[in-house]
Amino acid sequence: MACPRPAHSPADDRQWLLHARCRGLPTEIFFAAEGERGQRRVAREEQAKRVCRPCPVRPDCLRYALTAVEPWGIWGATTPTERQRLTEPAEPSGRAPTDARVAGSCPTGDRDSRKPV
Ligand code: SF4
Repeated sequence: MACPRPAHSPADDRQWLLHARCRGLPTEIFFAAEGERGQRRVAREEQAKRVCRPCPVRPDCLRYALTAVEPWGIWGATTPTERQRLTEPAEPSGRAPTDARVAGSCPTGDRDSRKPV
């Protein structure tokens, strides 16, 4: 199964997918199997992150996942938990994280909203 891509991205925003490093890779690398836990999960997530880190469209991918609030899977080398942290207020003032914080993050996942690639 091919790596998932954002099925609901606006058509004009999909150009970055043409350069996705995960194109053609098994979706199972990026999404947890039913009941996956512990070291097995950690190992799979790390495998996916190794694909993502040098990906030329990683910032676009992460931006998409944060905007779409993707609840599952590795996007832009981030897990859902890591993405959630990125969107939490950075300071007690309640300010949202800056673009620099998002761009510099090292991202990783679960399943269902299968990434379309
Ligand atoms: S950063 Fe996104 S597009 Fe690139 S390999 Fe990872 S999941 Fe695929």
